[in-house]
Amino acid sequence: MPIPANHTRFRTFVQHMARLLDQHPAEPTLLKEGSKLLGKLVAHDDWLQDTYAAPDAQRYQQYVLHVDSLERFCVVSFVWGPGQCTPIHNHTVWGLIGMLRGAELAQDYAPTADGRWAAQGQAVKLMPGQVAAVSPTIGDVHRVSNALSDQPSISIHVYGANIGSVARSVFLEDGTQKPFVSGYSNTTLPNFWDCSAEMNARLRPAH
Ligand code: FE
Repeated sequence: MPIPANHTRFRTFVQHMARLLDQHPAEPTLLKEGSKLLGKLVAHDDWLQDTYAAPDAQRYQQYVLHVDSLERFCVVSFVWGPGQCTPIHNHTVWGLIGMLRGAELAQDYAPTADGRWAAQGQAVKLMPGQVAAVSPTIGDVHRVSNALSDQPSISIHVYGANIGSVARSVFLEDGTQKPFVSGYSNTTLPNFWDCSAEMNARLRPAH
């Protein structure tokens, strides 16, 4: 029998994020402490259900795993098919990216004097367990791609809003700006809160 996904790990992460936000930290503290929490979550690849780890041949998937009841943050599983990438885009809120499986490349972009967008600095390669941050304060425009051309990659994103409903922008290198709202890819709702499998396992007598 397959080992059930470790939902406790995810629920603990969500609860710790909520407690962190309860303290109304300034953004540098939030990004630092949130990165530690997300780093702990993605240090183990034993908690994400297969439903939210499934790639799609046409485009990368954004499965919402949790939206805070006050919409202070949300958690999204990004699943990249081989070679898939985002357009250049912004977020308008803080975001943390934790690599769970495979590898991804994040390339920052900056506006040029003549109103175009150009790659800024080297692309950063994220490996499992590593965490990166974005925000309007520290740099909010980037393009992300699967670093692997022959297998899916998965990163866990945490944003300071219900990101699927946030009005933001896609940019073309010629400076064109297009509004977009990402939505989510889910066809079923995530359920990390059904503890019956764990409780039943505890009730079962040990052999
Ligand atoms: Fe992004």
